[in-house]
Amino acid sequence: GSVDPDLAQITECMSKIKNIVLVLSGKGGVGKSAVACQMAFALAGRGKQVGLLDVDVCGPSVPTITGTTASSVHSAGKGWEPVVCDVGDGEGSLSIMSIGFLLPSPDDAVIWRGPRKVSLIKNFLKDVAWGELDYLVIDTPPGSSDEHLSIVSFLKSVGISGAVLVTQPQEVSLSDVRKEVDFCRRTAIPILGLIENMSGFVCPCCGEETIVFHPSAGGGEKLCLDAKIRFLGRIPLDPSLTIACDSGRRWEGVVMEKEDKKRAEGKEDKS
Ligand code: ADP
Repeated sequence: GSVDPDLAQITECMSKIKNIVLVLSGKGGVGKSAVACQMAFALAGRGKQVGLLDVDVCGPSVPTITGTTASSVHSAGKGWEPVVCDVGDGEGSLSIMSIGFLLPSPDDAVIWRGPRKVSLIKNFLKDVAWGELDYLVIDTPPGSSDEHLSIVSFLKSVGISGAVLVTQPQEVSLSDVRKEVDFCRRTAIPILGLIENMSGFVCPCCGEETIVFHPSAGGGEKLCLDAKIRFLGRIPLDPSLTIACDSGRRWEGVVMEKEDKKRAEGKEDKS
């Protein structure tokens, strides 16, 4: 049969990208966009050439979190030149594309049915002059809907390197992220690992950690054990992360690799 010219163009555009990473969550508001943007900042800070694609068509947060809300995209030949984000003096770079850059006002609602979203995502994959990249990080809407399915089908011949899953520690979030695990397995997307976000709060006055979502603390790590996926770490609830995200800056905080020692020993401490 004849080759779909759009798919051929996607393949050509994406062939210059070494790794395509999806960031997925079951629910909204769990910190998926924060993780996607901070991951992109961190990779660029390590000297990588990074692209960040926001396919959350109805709720694009990437322009705010990367401090690029004032930017708009320029046409490059037939397509678009992505917005270049300042990442300092290092070797790395960060190029961003989001529907937020195409809207006349950031407060405009995008009230689109599936097919229109799918066609915009196709444009994002074939018409953006990404150039040569080490990583393209794709921030997706919560759940697994039209946007995810279209990415999977458009990138079928290119291949997605993997997905990073983001959850909060409580059961309502965990049960939805299990669906994302299932989605990845059914669509043959390798799962790079899971991040438990908003996991505990360290008091700035005394340094004591409060397990906000008691008693399900550590649920992300347990889910990883059960589903045999890699636990990438915990990010505490930290006002400095909210401020960094709201003001479009890289967060300098630390992701804890496992249950921190204090919490693991917490029971013995108190007895
Ligand atoms: P999602 O993409 O899952 O809908 P966002 O990444 O937009 O969620 O996060 C929602 C809000 O929570 C943002 O304002 C973000 O800055 C904030 N946030 C995310 N993770 C944390 C955290 N660990 N500590 C503090 N604020 C956070």
